[in-house]
Amino acid sequence: ASQNRPFHVFLFPFMAHGHMIPVADMAKLFAAQGVKTTIITTPLNAPTFSKATRSSKTNSGGIEIEIKTIKFPSQEAGLPEGCENLDSLPATPVLADSFFKAAGLLQEPLERLLLEDQPTCLVADMFFPWATDAAAKFGIPRLVFHGTSFFALAASDCVRRYEPFKNTSSDSEPFVIPDLPGEIKMTRAQVPSFIKDNTENDLTRLLKQSKEAEVRSYGIVVNSFYELEPVYADYYRKVLGKKAWHIGPLSLCNRENEEKAYRGKEASIDEHECLKWLDSKKPNSVVYVCFGSVAKFNNSQLKEIAIGLEASGLDFIWVVRKGKDDDDVSKEDWLPEGFEERMEGKGLIIRGWAPQVLILDHGAAGGFVTHCGWNSTLEGIAAGLPMVTWPVSAEQFYNEKLVTQVLKIGVGVGTQKWIRVVGDSVKKEAIEKAVTQIMVGEEAEKMRSRAKGLAEQARRAIEKGGSSHSDLNALIEELMSSHS
Ligand code: UDP
Repeated sequence: ASQNRPFHVFLFPFMAHGHMIPVADMAKLFAAQGVKTTIITTPLNAPTFSKATRSSKTNSGGIEIEIKTIKFPSQEAGLPEGCENLDSLPATPVLADSFFKAAGLLQEPLERLLLEDQPTCLVADMFFPWATDAAAKFGIPRLVFHGTSFFALAASDCVRRYEPFKNTSSDSEPFVIPDLPGEIKMTRAQVPSFIKDNTENDLTRLLKQSKEAEVRSYGIVVNSFYELEPVYADYYRKVLGKKAWHIGPLSLCNRENEEKAYRGKEASIDEHECLKWLDSKKPNSVVYVCFGSVAKFNNSQLKEIAIGLEASGLDFIWVVRKGKDDDDVSKEDWLPEGFEERMEGKGLIIRGWAPQVLILDHGAAGGFVTHCGWNSTLEGIAAGLPMVTWPVSAEQFYNEKLVTQVLKIGVGVGTQKWIRVVGDSVKKEAIEKAVTQIMVGEEAEKMRSRAKGLAEQARRAIEKGGSSHSDLNALIEELMSSHS
């Protein structure tokens, strides 16, 4: 009977913006290939997906992306009512633990949907390790989505396996990541704490389960393109022996301005106003500064950024996110006196959420100061921009090494330590120096030209016959043949 069922993919993203945004793009990509696509999420996250995929029907020959919801057990897990997204949570470890606990309770409702719909495959986030077994119950192959690069996956695997940080005499002494091609250097301070601390807690247990579930899964899908990191894509597949498909950059499936402007949240600035501001600037002249959807900076660090940007003399767009608990953005005591008056016309501050892809893709954008979250990093690459790398946590230090040591399209601002809340660790002089390095002079031009080359390859990768386009089709065909 299965032959008569259409090919149907279930996408089950983790409830945080950095994980949801690429999956919304992935849904559009599958639908554009004529694949029946369903996104599974929770009620309060559903509107994000319906808005993000609203253009898909016109762009995919009429295939509509379906969104199905399952109840998120906030209260059962001890979370505040209505809390269904990790980003909306005050940053305390206890609440984060509760959030992961709630996410762990979604197995049963997901299984009900799997039973009802019998999809051809399930692409579920790495944070749902149990999804492999859930899918197996119904004979459905499960694919894992990590939301990061091949490089970060391979580097993190090597660091875990060989524990090179145990052989250094200090936190700041560099070591070469063993076995990983390219002689990549990092320090113990930059290794995620869940890898170097031996203590067992909920998060380390979850990550361990996630690794085990990945080994037993059908394979992984990666938001990347082969030409960007061929050595590491090969390493992941051949040395680590895992099945993987690269189908990115996913953000490139958004072609129109209106599509690019919505990245999971309504922007805090009118997109036309933003484009008008950029239109008034010279090509490659504006620095865009943004640290993703999670990282938070304290007031004194924000002040250092302001002074550093002003001292560089460059035009900039700076996105300032303040957390719900500490935001009194109106007080503006994080800005130096008279800053905005002096920067009138020169610097644009966006308080809240920026239409990031729209800005990066504008010809006036010339450089990107980023925390190296993988979505941002890849969006910067796809836009052909040199970058100042300012990693903070998660796997961002690995992504930094890819940008600075492998691709050579960026310079580090000098963050040394994997942390949760960002203090005033980076000084204004370092910020001024780094942004100048990617914007002015011969080295900057070389980085820009390498970045533009990668952007061109990224664009080709997603076109018909390109590496990502072919890999997506290979994945669909393989699943289809195992399905019938
Ligand atoms: N983003 C955006 N506007 C903002 C901040 C972030 O559109 O003001 C988007 C950005 O384009 C990217 C995502 O949010 O797609 C952030 O994901 P990333 O992996 O870079 O970092 P995370 O937020 O997970 O730390």
